[in-house]
Amino acid sequence: MPKVLIAGGGLAGLSAAAALGGAGFDVDLFESRAFLGGRATSYNAPATGEEIAETIDNCQHVLMRCCVNLLDFYTRLGVRDRIKFYKEFYFLEPGGRVSVLSRGKLPAPLHFTGSFLKMHFLSRAEKVGIAKAIMAIKRERNRRKDLDKISMLDWLLQKRQSPHAIDRFWRQILVSAINEDLDRMAARHGFQVFSLGFLARADAYEMGVPNVPLGQLYGEESWKRLQSVRMHFRSAVERIDEKGFVVGGERRNADYLICALPFERLESVGLSAPKFDHSPITGVHLWFDREVTTLPHATLLDRTMQWMFNKEGGRYLQLVVSASRDLTDLSRNEIIEIAIGDLRLYFPRVKDAKLLKAHVVKEQRATFSAAPETESLRPTPRSSLPNVVLAGDWTRTGWPATMEGAVRSGYLAAEEIAQAAGKPQRFLIPDVG
Ligand SMILES: Cc1cc2nc3c(=O)[nH]c(=O)nc-3n(C[C@H](O)[C@H](O)[C@H](O)COP(=O)(O)OP(=O)(O)OC[C@H]3O[C@@H](n4cnc5c(N)ncnc54)[C@H](O)[C@@H]3O)c2cc1C
Repeated sequence: MPKVLIAGGGLAGLSAAAALGGAGFDVDLFESRAFLGGRATSYNAPATGEEIAETIDNCQHVLMRCCVNLLDFYTRLGVRDRIKFYKEFYFLEPGGRVSVLSRGKLPAPLHFTGSFLKMHFLSRAEKVGIAKAIMAIKRERNRRKDLDKISMLDWLLQKRQSPHAIDRFWRQILVSAINEDLDRMAARHGFQVFSLGFLARADAYEMGVPNVPLGQLYGEESWKRLQSVRMHFRSAVERIDEKGFVVGGERRNADYLICALPFERLESVGLSAPKFDHSPITGVHLWFDREVTTLPHATLLDRTMQWMFNKEGGRYLQLVVSASRDLTDLSRNEIIEIAIGDLRLYFPRVKDAKLLKAHVVKEQRATFSAAPETESLRPTPRSSLPNVVLAGDWTRTGWPATMEGAVRSGYLAAEEIAQAAGKPQRFLIPDVG
């Protein structure tokens, strides 16, 4: 079978390896770090004093049921059952009042009607306005030609959404889904989240959370079923050309090559790269001496911290702030102070709890910024070099920078190679709806 080399062991490289390995291609994947998963991974948080070292995710990663390619990739690795799906979204106001968004008996796109009407944190007029705007998304998605040129905020203002509805509903859902603020996000991405996640199918919105550390999803055991795929760790690719890679000063040739590196690394291996801005994400891990909440997760309204995930009996919480530019210059302690101050407002039990330990993970290069006019700059899998195919969440996948986007890029790269090798195959699963 043709020989393929892959640079990068993030989801893009791994999904290409799984698809091509499953089709019998002979695959060698080179990852510069000692573990797989790239930006969606776990690491050992070191022990300090009396603390015990433990494996934590760099940041909570979630998916939705509409992430059909990511779920297919987990199935290929035999880990699909490690994803727990939740049917409820909890919106929490300072003071602790909870509103629950979940589907009722009506078919899509009306499946949220009952729970949406009961949401406490929006006025009746705001709900009517939001419902009208969501129907406009359905109408305008395939008609409007300027959705990559205007920001989502521009579009929401065109639709006369109130500042309160924008802050409490649109911003709350979209900033974490796209990792960009509404005034910097191309409207097409906001449209996509609502079209696929909320309108296409009644179960598409369900939120999946891995019940093991992310790194375990791509552990050694998972790859045993793909005998023709070999992983090489601590093996940084230094050069890519049409014949092969240079790794550790040694040349390795192959029939086909996949570059699945982050875009900012392309120039270092001799490939040209688009110039995107980055958007940061900050994760805050907090361990308390007692249970502070029984909710499995919640989106937190009106404050700095945006999401809470209950990782361990309400004692270990992970908080996430997307597009977290405002936190960039703050110290670890300042961020922890903000997090605890916020949590006290939502979960009164935090006031009496003792904080046992905390980690702050600032990912300054979390994703590319999904800004207006960016889409046309995202390259297709074909690079300027014959036999070299591009993958990564930044390539033109039709999705923003997400795990699903990365897997789509891996599958598209694998299709490109299968085609070039005269063994055409479809790996990509079409979007729901
Ligand atoms: C904090 C944070 C939270 C996120 N939350 C979510 C979420 O909830 N849901 C979601 O869907 N997405 C989320 N994302 C986005 C998601 O993680 C990424 O879109 C996805 O993992 C990108 O995968 P990738 O394979 O394209 O790139 P990467 O994961 O960056 O993979 C590239 C790999 O290449 C390796 N590499 C670099 N240079 C070399 C070299 N020279 N040689 C060999 N290897 C090299 C890197 O070590 C890395 O493993 C989040 C991202 C971050 C950072």
